[in-house]
Amino acid sequence: MLKKSNAVYRADYLGLIKNFTTHEQQEVLNTFIKFSQKNMDLIEKCAWERNCDPLLWKEMADLGAFGAHVPEKYSGTSLDELSYALMMIGLEWGDSSLRSNASVQNALVAYPILSYGSEEQKSRYLPKLATGEWIGAFGLTEPNHGSDPGSLETKAVETEGGYLLSGSKQWITNADIADIHVVWAKLNGMVHGFLVEKGRVGLTAVSMHKKDSLQAGHTGEYTLDEVFVPSENLLPHSAGLKCALKCLNEARAGIAAGIIGAAMFCYETAWDYVMERKQFGTALAAKQITQVKLADMATAIAQGLSTAFHLAELRERKVADFSHVSMLKRANTQIARDVASMARGMLGANGVSSEYPIMRVMKNIESVYTYEGTYDVHGLIIGNKITGYAAY
Ligand SMILES: Cc1cc2nc3c(=O)[nH]c(=O)nc-3n(C[C@H](O)[C@H](O)[C@H](O)COP(=O)(O)OP(=O)(O)OC[C@H]3O[C@@H](n4cnc5c(N)ncnc54)[C@H](O)[C@@H]3O)c2cc1C
Repeated sequence: MLKKSNAVYRADYLGLIKNFTTHEQQEVLNTFIKFSQKNMDLIEKCAWERNCDPLLWKEMADLGAFGAHVPEKYSGTSLDELSYALMMIGLEWGDSSLRSNASVQNALVAYPILSYGSEEQKSRYLPKLATGEWIGAFGLTEPNHGSDPGSLETKAVETEGGYLLSGSKQWITNADIADIHVVWAKLNGMVHGFLVEKGRVGLTAVSMHKKDSLQAGHTGEYTLDEVFVPSENLLPHSAGLKCALKCLNEARAGIAAGIIGAAMFCYETAWDYVMERKQFGTALAAKQITQVKLADMATAIAQGLSTAFHLAELRERKVADFSHVSMLKRANTQIARDVASMARGMLGANGVSSEYPIMRVMKNIESVYTYEGTYDVHGLIIGNKITGYAAY
């Protein structure tokens, strides 16, 4: 198990963190790396038991993980883009499930309320979300519609004083434990976002237990059977699929940075191992093939971290295009997938042991490879931008 506090800095071969961040930004990273390292045994236990310990949620909330883009007047911390990226790296160092909790709460629940909500909705929900008092979920994906959310079937029908929502959602992070759901449904044929609080009659949410990835986190599915949602819970500025897609774009930007934290964790675990493990009379680190693998891993991480920093800067200047975000979510997830796979092999039999939790990371990366747009679909988004032809 990793204990060294300088581990994350060693995995940053080009010294980007040391040289291109402020003291305050480094503090954000250090805070979340320390949180991840301190809780490594608990995270492992959660993954083993397929559950997220509420203690982890509480500690993340206390550290400000859930209100990163929320203004201070709604109890948020209003982090700059690079600090947010570093927070994601620090959380992903611990586990992708924890980073996913922060991604959903910040980018997929607080963001739509902040961007498309009324002042009453902001005042009512944002402080609860930013402080972690309430858990939020974002329901876009349905059993029959994943990569193609424009075809979603969940419907909203106007009724006296509000709307009746009917349909089903699947593969929704935290849906089974959420206090509030952002539900995307069609009203008169156009996609809109609705805020559906836990306990509404006709809303039935359950856990998806057979999940072999992100096991330290919750994923659920639910049905809506003519669930009444009062008029004031329609997000008033959320008309059109593009509003839901903008939320995904926010989340993908965090993932593009965060997933490099998974690669760094795997690199560091492999480095530690080959420095100590001896075969054929010397440390594995003294072998040529091992060194080339470490060089390949460090290079890939340097590339991923550089582009993550660059994306944060583009976003800070408000010039990042959605296809830039697609490119880096896609490329950095592939980097993490490759690095994790190499690290797994370098540990031999221990690479499949939960003593060195690389298999947990590898399994997590498979979700990141798929959610928020699959690797191939992001290729199609970039291809569309490059050629002008939509090939979905
Ligand atoms: C752990 C986890 C958590 C999730 N959390 C959330 C959440 O909080 N909220 C939410 O709304 N969703 C969530 N999702 C759902 C996720 O966003 C979808 O799984 C994803 O969009 C892919 O959809 P799908 O699984 O239906 O795959 P499909 O769309 O059926 O795709 C299957 C395969 O076909 C490929 N494919 C699709 N379209 C094309 C095409 N045009 N050309 C060529 N190939 C294509 C895909 O790349 C993929 O390889 C989560 C998923 C997971 C695994």
